[in-house]
Amino acid sequence: MATTSSAHQPSRAEAEVVDLVSRLIRFDTSNTGDLATTRGEKECAEWVASQLQEVGYETTYVESGAPGRGNLFARLPGADPDRGALMLHGHLDVVPAEPADWSVHPFSGAVEDGYVWGRGAVDMKDMVGMMIAVARRFKAEGIVPPRDLVFAFLADEEAGGTYGSQWLVRHRPDLFEGITEAVGEVGGFSLTVPRPDGTERRLYMVETAEKGLGWMRLTAKGRAGHGSFLHEENAVTILAQAVARLGTHTFPLVVPDSVAEFLAAAGEETGLDFDPTSPDLEGTLAKLGSIARIVGATLRDTANPTMLDAGYKANVIPQTAEAVVDCRILPGRLAEFERTVDELIGPDVTREWITSLDSYETTFDGDLVDAMNAAIEAHDPLGRTVPYMLSGGTDAKAFAKLGIRCFGFAPLQLPPELDFAALFHGVDERVPVEALRFGTRVMEHFIMHS
Ligand SMILES: [Zn+2]
Repeated sequence: MATTSSAHQPSRAEAEVVDLVSRLIRFDTSNTGDLATTRGEKECAEWVASQLQEVGYETTYVESGAPGRGNLFARLPGADPDRGALMLHGHLDVVPAEPADWSVHPFSGAVEDGYVWGRGAVDMKDMVGMMIAVARRFKAEGIVPPRDLVFAFLADEEAGGTYGSQWLVRHRPDLFEGITEAVGEVGGFSLTVPRPDGTERRLYMVETAEKGLGWMRLTAKGRAGHGSFLHEENAVTILAQAVARLGTHTFPLVVPDSVAEFLAAAGEETGLDFDPTSPDLEGTLAKLGSIARIVGATLRDTANPTMLDAGYKANVIPQTAEAVVDCRILPGRLAEFERTVDELIGPDVTREWITSLDSYETTFDGDLVDAMNAAIEAHDPLGRTVPYMLSGGTDAKAFAKLGIRCFGFAPLQLPPELDFAALFHGVDERVPVEALRFGTRVMEHFIMHS
């Protein structure tokens, strides 16, 4: 039983959102991680500005550290200017897509079979479209939210925000003046779970925590030499052994508060045993479907070797060999993680962090969480919000440094059979049209009760 819009008159925002998302997707804002080849953010930000200016907003366009890295800000005054502002933030960049792999062109924004198709449909031009739709309606119809709203459209999230949120927080903190709370991506989507009595429940996953991210370079130094001689100090061999030990290591099971709360709620609804001490916790999680890939990744630290580099000729033993390891670390675990890595790589390999972004965790309580609950319950009688931790990262990591309390809440009611997790950075990324309309209704309700 889905909440349908057939019984009510769609608001201006609901009527616009699908077209806005489709048009956003048609801007190719592929972020390659390389300044020379990343494009489109400026043009996309300027288009967002035109959509907001059309209804009377003043907008601020800011480039974050390099030409073309466009960000856009707009403010809407609320009824009580003494309360802290609420920021809604969305990134305009997307990861690249290979058109040959897709059923539709990834930058077509096609609206077909009840979906909007294209790169960014769920990550995260869906929420960007909802933000624009809501912002336009509020301004055009003179709707005054209870507190000031800040709409932020950002560059470079997909490469860690170096030329986006991280730069803005460091160089332009004035743009975030007065903001106490924020909502952004990778939360608010529904996970349908079966109940013991044969009915269903939709859990809306609110992101309250993020693992830390660290890209680590390992370097082994040996002795250069001829490939035909006996040789005990081969940097390639030393490095390969360290990489293999680290890559096959299983870090201990740890259950942070946000994960424990998710497991308790999932257990309550499904009747399954998600006791964190149960020896087959990961097996039971798999019964929830693809969400197990996300939740399972928040039960341990991980260290996945991703790059290897050594040598230049088949018969020359090189002096050094290097690897890069993608590390994802739970809140409070960094020191212990580093100790374990040092033991595993041994004394002949050195390590350095080439990128590191701290973990983040907030509690699932307070007025803003109440507003999320109220909005979901008002629009989905089968809905219940639950907190969870994201194994990846978002711009929230940067905003948290300013003391802003961050949540992932981009509401979408999804069909149970849709493998939502697989759509992120995946082929045939798409978002249901009805989910966008639902999300817009929920977002409006949420803001008006925030
Ligand atoms: Zn994203």
